[in-house]
Amino acid sequence: ILFSTLYRMCNSKLIRCFPHYKSRTSSTSLWLKQAYIGGEWLDATSGATFEVRNPANMQVIGCVPDMTAVEAQKAIDVATRAFYASEWKLITARERSQLLKNWQILISQHCTELANIITAECGKPLTESLSEVAYGQSFVEWFAEEARRIDGQLIASSVSNQELIVVREPLGVAALITPWNFPMALVLRKAAAALAAGCTVVVKPDENTPLICLALAKLSQMACIPAGVFNVITTSGAPAIGELFCQSPLVCGISFTGSTEVGKLLFRESAGLLKRVSLELGGNAPFIVFESADIVEAVKGAMLSKFRNAGQTCVSANRFYIHSAVYEDFLKQLQAQVEALKIGSGHDKSVEIGPLINTAQLKRIEAFMKDAFSRHAKVICGGKRLQEIGELFYAPTIITDVDRTARIYREEIFGPVITMAKFDTEDEVVTRANSSRRGLAGYFYSQNLQEVFRVARRLEVGIVGVNVGLASQAEAPFGGIKESGIGREGGHYGIDEFTEIKYICLGGL
Ligand code: NAD
Repeated sequence: ILFSTLYRMCNSKLIRCFPHYKSRTSSTSLWLKQAYIGGEWLDATSGATFEVRNPANMQVIGCVPDMTAVEAQKAIDVATRAFYASEWKLITARERSQLLKNWQILISQHCTELANIITAECGKPLTESLSEVAYGQSFVEWFAEEARRIDGQLIASSVSNQELIVVREPLGVAALITPWNFPMALVLRKAAAALAAGCTVVVKPDENTPLICLALAKLSQMACIPAGVFNVITTSGAPAIGELFCQSPLVCGISFTGSTEVGKLLFRESAGLLKRVSLELGGNAPFIVFESADIVEAVKGAMLSKFRNAGQTCVSANRFYIHSAVYEDFLKQLQAQVEALKIGSGHDKSVEIGPLINTAQLKRIEAFMKDAFSRHAKVICGGKRLQEIGELFYAPTIITDVDRTARIYREEIFGPVITMAKFDTEDEVVTRANSSRRGLAGYFYSQNLQEVFRVARRLEVGIVGVNVGLASQAEAPFGGIKESGIGREGGHYGIDEFTEIKYICLGGL
């Protein structure tokens, strides 16, 4: 069905008028070695490249151009031309929607190849990579639909013979900076919203995982998204590119997902031009199990929330608070499941946990654990590297008796480690849960209806999962409060980040 739909679309007048269309039947590899700027596949001007490695075995799986501000400026220039001069701003919302649908269909058709690229450069198990492809394409599908629903408002004027009109217009060129942990989905969550709004984009993927972004660029080209609308620059020198994005008056908005530290830096650097900045930053999610909870479901939710992508997920549960009455039962069931997890290369179909992304991430977790042990934390299971499997593997771990001053309690772990603590009252646990300066996600399990409503409202986070360990969906807003960010992605809110509101006062009627 997908193939015949695409075939019909590719033969439509709309598609034929775009010169970059390549038939699905041509054997196109999605393993690419060049960056994509203005519809062309380019090397760095200097010829420099950098290697991309598989974190499961440290083997080099690709080499991509190591670009600098020179190429980034070129990408900004072509994106600016594409915004003002090309058909992107002038075509109808329906046509933009159609092109996004083409892209989504091609992504779905290539799901296995895309998942293989994700697992190769990011390390997550293949089943998780396939879920990421499905999750990523759901944003393209959603925003293809939303593209047609960007509407305005007519307001009753208090002055006679006037109409007050509000319209929403695309920002212009948007710079998208994305991390390695969901290297495909987070590019699409931003880019699909931006393109639907009528913006053009320059994407700078993380240096650990640029290959999947280049594969998406190839599919955008095959989908006939016009040259200059979706551009990708690859670099190992992110700070210089970030600085250019912040200082260039041609870049109208910056959408960033990554660490709170870099998010704050970009926010400061772009303040000079008062740029629109959207930040999806780190979390420190509480995971609370109340006395009334279904413990089997709570353990299932904990496993899902904590061990996806080896715990390297911004919405991952970080601090576990379990009511004293159910603590032992929860811990026993959780420990059994944690100890049964199969660890290894993500390409092995039976594997449930892959490696950490790089040495820096491993060292960070080891430093957290050392600090926790120095404050008398107790290991229930794990608590060490698994060098016999590979350089970057860390055992799924549960620790208890973690001092509240420990780094592992205060900061985001971003690894497969659970810290457990007991609580007795709702007030006590809500206070502890809200004690963090981060406010991205929070989870709790309860079957008490009043408690569910009360606690959902009391938690200081942008996303609350009640009796679920995974809450993100294309239809819903994603984002945090406090130092977890500014703005929302997904849902109909995602479009707002890439549009400006214009008010037109129409007089003399
Ligand atoms: P990071 O901030 O170091 O890197 C993220 C991106 O920013 C990468 O593309 C990187 O190349 C780029 N970057 C790094 N320094 C930069 C600079 N000075 N200027 C411009 N760009 C720069 O983050 P990380 O350690 O790679 O990723 C982990 C962090 O990201 C965690 O804290 C995690 O919670 C957060 N994260 C948040 C979300 C979310 O949606 N809220 C999603 C994924 C990851």
